[in-house]
Amino acid sequence: MSSPPEPTRTRPPFQRSYLNRQAVAVVRTLQEEGYETYLVGGCVRDLLLGTRPKDFDIATAAKPEKVRSLFRRSRMIGRRFQIVHVHHGREVFEVSTFRAAPPKQDGSHVKIIRNDNVYGSSFEDANRRDFTVNGLFLDPVAGEIVDWVGGMQDVQDRVLHSIGDPEIRFREDPVRILRLIKFMRRLDLAPGEAEIVAAERHAKDLTHAAPARLAEEIFRLLATGQAEGVFEDMQALKILRYVLPELRSWLRQSDDNREAFSKRLAALDEMTANGLCADYDFHLAVLFGVRAEQEFDPQQRRMKRKEYPQIAAAILSEFQQRARLPRTAVTCATNILLAQLRLDPPEYISASRRQSWNPEALMAQAWFPLALSYLKLRLKADGRSSELWDEWHQRYQVFGQSKA
Ligand code: ATP
Ligand code: MG
Repeated sequence: MSSPPEPTRTRPPFQRSYLNRQAVAVVRTLQEEGYETYLVGGCVRDLLLGTRPKDFDIATAAKPEKVRSLFRRSRMIGRRFQIVHVHHGREVFEVSTFRAAPPKQDGSHVKIIRNDNVYGSSFEDANRRDFTVNGLFLDPVAGEIVDWVGGMQDVQDRVLHSIGDPEIRFREDPVRILRLIKFMRRLDLAPGEAEIVAAERHAKDLTHAAPARLAEEIFRLLATGQAEGVFEDMQALKILRYVLPELRSWLRQSDDNREAFSKRLAALDEMTANGLCADYDFHLAVLFGVRAEQEFDPQQRRMKRKEYPQIAAAILSEFQQRARLPRTAVTCATNILLAQLRLDPPEYISASRRQSWNPEALMAQAWFPLALSYLKLRLKADGRSSELWDEWHQRYQVFGQSKA
């Protein structure tokens, strides 16, 4: 094999206080043992873009067994490829061994890549990554960026280019199309023209991607704080039909549906910006909540089944089964949606039914705080005052004190 080209090495300024000292210590230990080691991926990108990274990933020439033996508090994880979780202080870092890019594919017949677990050089490891801004390596000890993929230029220009031909990179792993949208919106980077063309052209390949990975990216998209924009992009690139077909058909039924859904996403974004820490269950409720509420209402109902829990579960289950989410996600999302009937009873709930409900039993549920956050989201989306939320919130605090 020909030797790799020389990378560009630079010392760009970045906020050093954003560097995690423990992560640097892990890199240093590996380097002192003679292994080429860097900080990689999202943390390098975020540092260069001036935002505080949320986690620090490390890539090294050392094999997993070696990493494991160098750090007492470490653990091997992963079956497909082994990575090591190194615990340092209160933090955990993912340390992975450089991997080679999968065999080059020509444009005529591109196969989806399902295993990329062959060890390789740092050059190869940079090239197997998705976007140039995600392919930069930082040696935090030397304070040097090692760039094999032209990522520094793209960071400066604030553009998203895939490493290599996007036509091929999106076909070998269609999840990268969703990642493109995520980075565009979350980091406010402009996509390259070729990337947009390739994303639209190969959106259909998303149906072949592993359901669990798709679901994971969808939930990450919802948590970007830019969910409203993300859904606009997914519609513009004609992606929604492949990743959330049932939601798309419902959105297409009426302008009212589209408007109500957008407002929920805008409210979600506002709450995310204010520090909402939501999980799968909550996001699942947001995705299908408006549709479930319509079906609860006897005036609007299209489905045959009558019991509220069955209605909610039926709506959520379509996605849960396709995305292979745990059943518990549907149970929790159903609870969040059904709780709304009690927290904020619609007119069609009779007075006698309302009176039969015991608020204490509701507040005693582990998922009650999520239901309360969801109430806030609905009130925001509908332009209503937060008075009702305040009341429940206060009541819940009193309830908590009485239990303490
Ligand atoms: P985030 O801030 O959302 O975590 P990230 O860039 O760190 O963004 P991760 O999913 O944590 O994204 O992945 C870490 C790194 O692994 C990426 O920066 C990229 O280099 C590489 N990577 C992740 N997913 C892919 C993929 N589908 N194809 C190629 N490289 C990938
Ligand atoms: Mg990451």
